Amino acid sequence: MAAETDEPLVVVGAGLAGGSAAVTLREEGFAGRIVLIGREPGIPFGRPPLSKTYLRSEEDLDGWYVKPSSWYEEHGIERLVGPSVVEIDPLAHSLTLDSGHVLGYDRVLIATGGRLRRLEIPGAELAGIHYLRTVADCNAIKQEVQAGGRHAAVVGMGFIGCEVAASLRQLGVRVTAVFPGRAPLERVLGGEVGAAIAAIHRANDVDLVTGGRIAAFEGSERVATAVTTEGRRVACDFVVVGAGIEPEVPAFVGASVALSNGVLVDERCLASHTDVYAAGDVANQLHPLFGRVRVEHFNNAEKQGRAAARSMLGATAPYDYVHTFWSDQYEHKLEYAGHATNWDRFVVRGSLEERQLIGFYLREGELQAAVGLDRGGDPELDEHCEMAACARLVDQRARPAPAQLADDAADLWSLVR
Ligand code: FAD
Repeated sequence: MAAETDEPLVVVGAGLAGGSAAVTLREEGFAGRIVLIGREPGIPFGRPPLSKTYLRSEEDLDGWYVKPSSWYEEHGIERLVGPSVVEIDPLAHSLTLDSGHVLGYDRVLIATGGRLRRLEIPGAELAGIHYLRTVADCNAIKQEVQAGGRHAAVVGMGFIGCEVAASLRQLGVRVTAVFPGRAPLERVLGGEVGAAIAAIHRANDVDLVTGGRIAAFEGSERVATAVTTEGRRVACDFVVVGAGIEPEVPAFVGASVALSNGVLVDERCLASHTDVYAAGDVANQLHPLFGRVRVEHFNNAEKQGRAAARSMLGATAPYDYVHTFWSDQYEHKLEYAGHATNWDRFVVRGSLEERQLIGFYLREGELQAAVGLDRGGDPELDEHCEMAACARLVDQRARPAPAQLADDAADLWSLVR
């Protein structure tokens, strides 16, 4: 346990990673001051329902809070809600808020998440064009539907675009989805699974405009048309753009902190300057299994936030979580374990045509990752499920025979050492 000093442990960013870290600091027995600074209103929560159940008004956010509001007060966590941290000085061990107030710290965790990538094209400022990160963003999209928006253009078919398209269809909104690739999620999941996802969206009457980039939005005051670079015109009542995020890196002064696609941190989530840590979407970690990796997923934000907190208290264990994430689209569930950015072999167990399968991503014979589409269970909820076996195989750097992976009769757990 780290010694207590007069200066607090400070967490910058009160999202899932920051909230989980602040809670862990206290739960691990740190008795000194903990300050959690976040510019977003409310208490730390998980964003997944914003593209799914909350967007469809099927659920409120109660089940997604890291802790109820009263917990922070009861456990003496000082929450500063509203201010932005504009500068961090690692040499002076201090940070500056947008009010000008300077706060000293003993150790600081950067958990500032991601910043939306916005389209900078003609018409981008028109009303009716939405992005999705915060509750306010989500409420604005809900408002479009409640106000009678019948036809949405969804720009980008990564996870956010896919989930929003599905939710809008479930709400009875017509959807035209415009995206640059050949299939939704192709970049992350490959062409085979991408084609299965495309088939799911087409079966739900989403009009998929593949290979499309939006060049301009048109309309008088409100958006009425999205125009692609090829000149295709998509009439719409409103637009939701899912163009990804950039890591939201705060400004450092006085001493440099190594940055590259986020804050570079070591296996313990420690940055290149002493007493500076990072976790969540902003952290680019030297992962013991995957090498340098920055991921943008719920499970990581929660677990890495906790791991970074333990490191801040002196723990030396590396953060070696075999990344997993999920996505819900219509009644379909996608689960993923591992981390694959390139692979030379894709093996299917089950059926791509019936869209019920586990897909395995191999590189030079080693299993990098696996995806379950309506098959394999949730490795976080069921430790005996097929996807949990996949996570174990990835962790073991297993080199399973492709024929065994594909063979439904071979129990995946029999391949685990
Ligand atoms: P964030 O949640 O972005 O929190 C960072 C916080 O820091 C923000 O509140 C921000 O305002 C604040 N901040 C930033 N800079 C400053 C500053 N300088 N000063 C003060 N405060 C600052 N993942 C999945 O695995 N499955 C899903 O189904 C899934 N669904 C998602 C649906 C939506 C709509 C979205 C947006 C994301 C989804 N994700 C999902 C991803 C997951 O929510 C993110 O990976 C997770 O929120 C990252 O948490 P974080 O704490 O790192 O960042």
